Amino acid sequence: MAGEKSFKYVIVGGGVSAGYAAREFAKQGVQPGELAIISKEAVAPYERPALSKAYLFPEGAARLPGFHVCVGSGGEKLLPEWYTEKGIELILNTEIVKADLASKSLTSAAGDTFKYKILIIATGSTVLKLTDFKVEGADAKNILYLREIDDADQLVEAIKAKKNGKAVVVGGGYIGLELSAVLKINNFDVKMVYPEPWCMPRLFTADIAAFYEGYYEKKGVGIIKGTVASGFTKNDNGEVKEVKLKDGRVLEADIVVVGVGARPLTNLFKGQVEEDKGGIKTDASFKTSVPDVYAVGDVATFPMKMYGDIRRVEHVDHSRKSAEQAVKAIFASEQGKDIEPYDYLPYFYSRSFDLSWQFYGDNVGDAVIFGDHDPASAKAKFGSYWIKDGKVVGAFLEGGAPEENQAIAKVARAQPAATSLDALAKEGLEFASKI
Ligand code: FAD
Repeated sequence: MAGEKSFKYVIVGGGVSAGYAAREFAKQGVQPGELAIISKEAVAPYERPALSKAYLFPEGAARLPGFHVCVGSGGEKLLPEWYTEKGIELILNTEIVKADLASKSLTSAAGDTFKYKILIIATGSTVLKLTDFKVEGADAKNILYLREIDDADQLVEAIKAKKNGKAVVVGGGYIGLELSAVLKINNFDVKMVYPEPWCMPRLFTADIAAFYEGYYEKKGVGIIKGTVASGFTKNDNGEVKEVKLKDGRVLEADIVVVGVGARPLTNLFKGQVEEDKGGIKTDASFKTSVPDVYAVGDVATFPMKMYGDIRRVEHVDHSRKSAEQAVKAIFASEQGKDIEPYDYLPYFYSRSFDLSWQFYGDNVGDAVIFGDHDPASAKAKFGSYWIKDGKVVGAFLEGGAPEENQAIAKVARAQPAATSLDALAKEGLEFASKI
C-alpha cells in the first residue's frame, strides 16, 4: 500500500553527489531520521567512473562494495551500514516520477509520497540513445549504453557471451575511448566510429588527439572518423549483426557500445524552477530559484567564479565538491550565516590502457603542446597549455606523477603570464613546476 514519509532533508538521486552530500551531512551533525536519499538504483552511492574502467577488466575487476563513495577521492568508503549507523535512510529501487516543489512533496513510481523541508536535486544525467534519433535497427539486442551499474552488468554479460568477438564503439568522447580500451583488453576486435575529425574534440586539440588515436591504433583498435552509424542489421535472435555507416561501409559486430553524450535529468522540475544552459540554475551555494531547493552535480548550472560566467559541468570532481558546498550552505543558513561562494577550478581526468591524463582550467585561446607525444614511444609523456590574453588558462598532462599533476593544477588556478608560445612549448613542465 502506498505510504507517506517525511524528512527534514531529502536528496533525490543516489549517485556521486548524493554520497558526498551524505558524508558532509554527517560531518555537519545531521540527526538520525532527518535525512533520506531516494534512488532509482538498487545500491548505495558509488564512484560512477569505475564503471567504464576497472569494472570491466577481464581479471581483478572492481566490484561493490569496493568502490562505494567516498573512496574515489581517497576518503573512507561509505558502505550501506554507514548510512544505517548514521540514521540516514537509503530508499533504493525507488524512482521519483513526480515532484511538486510548491507543496514540497515527491511521488514515487509505486505511489509513495515523500515530504521534505529541504530538497537537494542530484538526479545526474541520462545517456542519449540512438533510438531517440530513430536510427534504423537501434533497438537490436547487444546495442548497449553505460550510465549505471545495471548497464555495466549487461555489458559484462555481453562480453562473456560474445567472448573474443567483434565490438563497435559508437562515439569518440571519453566514454568511447575508455570502453574501446577495455573491450580491447577483453580481447575483442574493436572499431571506434565517430563523426568528428578527431577524438574528444570538446577538449583535445588535434595534436593531443593524434597521440591517443595513434596509441589506440598501435594497440589494435580500428579508428573510423568522419562518419556515423546510420543503421544496424540483426540476426535471427534480434541481436545486432552489422553496423551500417553513413559513408556506405558495413562493420560486423557482436556488441555495439554507444557513448554519444548525456542529458541532465531535469524533467521532473520543468516549469517549476529556473533553468539555464540545459540545467537547473543555482547560485554559488547551489540554491535554486525555489526556496529550500538545491541542485548539485551534473544537473546544476552554477556561477563559475574564475571565469565570470555560468556553466554546467558533468565531471565527478565537481559532483563531489558541489554536493559538499550545498550541504555546508544548508547548515550555515540554518544558523543565519553565509559561506564562501563556490570557486571551482574545472578538473577532469580519464584513464585507459596504461594511459592517464588530467586537465585543469579552461581550454580556450591558443594551445601549445610539449614533451614526447609520439604514440610509438615506450612511455610517452606530454602536455599542453592553453593561453588566452597572454595568460595560461588551462593545462593538460598525460602520464604525470602526482606532484606534476598538482603543478599543472596550480598553473590553471594562478593563470600566470606567458611571454611566448614557443618558450612555453620548450619549457614544458618546468614552467608549471616554477609556479
Ligand atoms: P549521478 O552520479 O549520475 O547520480 C544520479 C543518480 O540519480 C543515479 O543514481 C540515478 O539513478 C538517480 N536518479 C535519477 N533520476 C531519478 C529519479 N527520478 N528518481 C530516483 N533516482 C533518480 N567524470 C570524470 O570526471 N572522470 C571520469 O573518468 C568519469 N568517468 C565516467 C564514467 C562513466 C561510465 C560515467 C557514466 C560517468 C563518468 N564521469 C566521469 C562523470 C561523473 O561520473 C558524473 O559527472 C557524476 O557521476 C555526476 O554525479 P551526479 O550525482 O550529478 O549524478
